[in-house]
Amino acid sequence: MGFVDSFGRVHDDLRLSITDRCNLRCAYCMPQDPVWYPHGAILSYEEIERVARIAIAGGVRKLRVTGGEPLVRRDVARLIASLAALPGLSDLSLTTNGVLLASHAKELARAGLRRVNVSLDTLDRDRFAKLTGRDRLTDVLKGLAAAADAGLGPIKINAVLLRGENEAEAIELARFGRERGYEVRFIEFMPLENDHSWDLGRVVSGAMVRRSIAEAWPIVPDPAGDPHAPASRYLYEDGNGAVGFIDSVTAPFCASCTRIRLTSDGKFRVCLYDDKEEDLRAALRGGESDDAIAARMQAALARKGRGGAIDILESKAAIPLARTMHQIGG
Ligand code: SAM
Repeated sequence: MGFVDSFGRVHDDLRLSITDRCNLRCAYCMPQDPVWYPHGAILSYEEIERVARIAIAGGVRKLRVTGGEPLVRRDVARLIASLAALPGLSDLSLTTNGVLLASHAKELARAGLRRVNVSLDTLDRDRFAKLTGRDRLTDVLKGLAAAADAGLGPIKINAVLLRGENEAEAIELARFGRERGYEVRFIEFMPLENDHSWDLGRVVSGAMVRRSIAEAWPIVPDPAGDPHAPASRYLYEDGNGAVGFIDSVTAPFCASCTRIRLTSDGKFRVCLYDDKEEDLRAALRGGESDDAIAARMQAALARKGRGGAIDILESKAAIPLARTMHQIGG
């Protein structure tokens, strides 16, 4: 058995969202006054670990813990330790906004976390406060340094550029990464509707960012780049690391997508853009066997569309979804 869909894509990468709560309020991601899921709706660590174990038995090799903001949930290191102990994993990582990372980094590394991705869209304190609704840039920078000290590398920085807001910061963000050995990845603003503010005009294309970075520092495509990775990876010709581009709008990578997701309220999701979810929470709490739960996951995967049919550039419109990114798990 393996998590293979009807287009032959072998799904080995599971994203586990462990909370919908967040300590920032990035407007492109979530509402300013969110209504959180009640605690009882959120999977326990034991339930999350069970789904991870079933997924690994089905061929998943990479786990990424995300949210919401995963570090706002109590005792994350306990979950990390239980996931790290699962045999068969080739990667265990965490996506965080970095705000609480300074106080967690060592403990997470000790628990078996291998690496972190930190989301950071700006290095300007005022702009950070405006984009995220919170004045926490200093904490994020401390968190990054602590993660590096704790050996949680290679550290990647995820940056979303928005036209008219932080687009001019591409070079500064890239420079920041080059100087510290962090791999910055520029992610196009995706139409996961929240405040109806998405439109193509606000998307800064990866191609544009690539051009301006290449003018500052010549880059070449990484010959060892993973064809299933969403980011196309480039190496700086001067040997100063790498930079990535996730062109999710202008060049969707559905054809090579091998990602599946578990939301914090226990729904299994086979595509960011597909609201049809499988309710694993009901199955877990209803006493179903591991095999039955695996079969539910297989069945959901069999319904996964080819993708690419979502021609965002063609429709120029946001895709209406029941959930926003903070609820799905980025
Ligand atoms: N709180 C954690 C963090 O900030 O990394 C994890 C969850 S957050 C939803 C994961 C990533 O999703 C962040 O890098 C964020 O920038 C990205 N994201 C959220 N909404 C997005 C959108 N509409 N388009 C592109 N990226 C988005």
